[in-house]
Amino acid sequence: MTNLIDPFQRTITYLRLSVTDRCDFRCVYCMSENMQFLPKAELLTLEELDRLCSTFIRLGVEKLRITGGEPLVRKGIMSFFEGMGRHLESGALKELTLTTNGSQLERFAQPLFDAGVRRINISLDTLDEAKFAEITRWGRLPQVMRGIDAALAAGLRVKLNTVALKDFNEDELFTLAEFCAARDMDLTFIEVMPMGDIGNENRLMQYWDLSDLRDTLATRYTLHDLSERTGGPARYIQLEETGQKIGLITPMTHNFCESCNRVRITCTGEIYTCLGQEGKSDLRGPLRSSETDAPLEEAIRAAIGLKPKGHDFDYSRQTLGGQMSRHMSHTGG
Ligand code: SF4
Repeated sequence: MTNLIDPFQRTITYLRLSVTDRCDFRCVYCMSENMQFLPKAELLTLEELDRLCSTFIRLGVEKLRITGGEPLVRKGIMSFFEGMGRHLESGALKELTLTTNGSQLERFAQPLFDAGVRRINISLDTLDEAKFAEITRWGRLPQVMRGIDAALAAGLRVKLNTVALKDFNEDELFTLAEFCAARDMDLTFIEVMPMGDIGNENRLMQYWDLSDLRDTLATRYTLHDLSERTGGPARYIQLEETGQKIGLITPMTHNFCESCNRVRITCTGEIYTCLGQEGKSDLRGPLRSSETDAPLEEAIRAAIGLKPKGHDFDYSRQTLGGQMSRHMSHTGG
């Protein structure tokens, strides 16, 4: 069986899969306060998620990242993680990971580790309780802190994904770096697009240029650029004094396209083959049309055959009623 190779000879080995559109937070840049979520019938069932991932793994996917919404609020999701453990055991899947807001980790960190997860990304924009409540609307920081502690205690490697917002967390740059260094956690900053007025939340949504962030870091630390790339948009620098690695993701960057090894699937089974373009194909129809995986496999191959060469990463196309239609803190890496 041949692997998934796109028209530009890039082999697809990394799948990012959203398992729910729901979340227990309402981050101002991601969701409105009164979200209408999808009817259950539109979502892939846990069994369908398993079939889908197992098919991709059979076709050569070696890394699977589970996202949302908040993946850990999906009912029964641990059984899905446990099921994926069999692909880790067989060696076909090399890494099973997730991006989470951390709210459910106190409960789930150990079961995730037991299922074979070794690294997780936690989206966290501030270490200040009041600011955290303001930006997530419904979130409470102590709950996430307990989640981080539980993740570290379980033996999970943790990376924080932080959306860089000038008037919001610029003053926490060193605090965040030190917080991560003290816990041996990685840290990645995600730049937002400079935006005009996006409504009542724009006070928090101030563009913070990551080259400016880097210059500020350099006032206290000796920085080394790392050549390491993961096939994604992050660049890494290392702080000599702490040894820690800090990732920088600038959405405008498109110089990783030639090594892009990833595709993304929504919780309704739509496959997006390029992070910065809206082109998509449906996999739910083929998945539901047959008990065998042949139509699904054919649809996957057809979608990969349409993967574009690159993108222009114009996030301004993604506003939806004044909100970002894609979860910025969840697109990182
Ligand atoms: S950014 Fe993440 S944590 Fe915040 S509302 Fe969106 S999905 Fe939830």
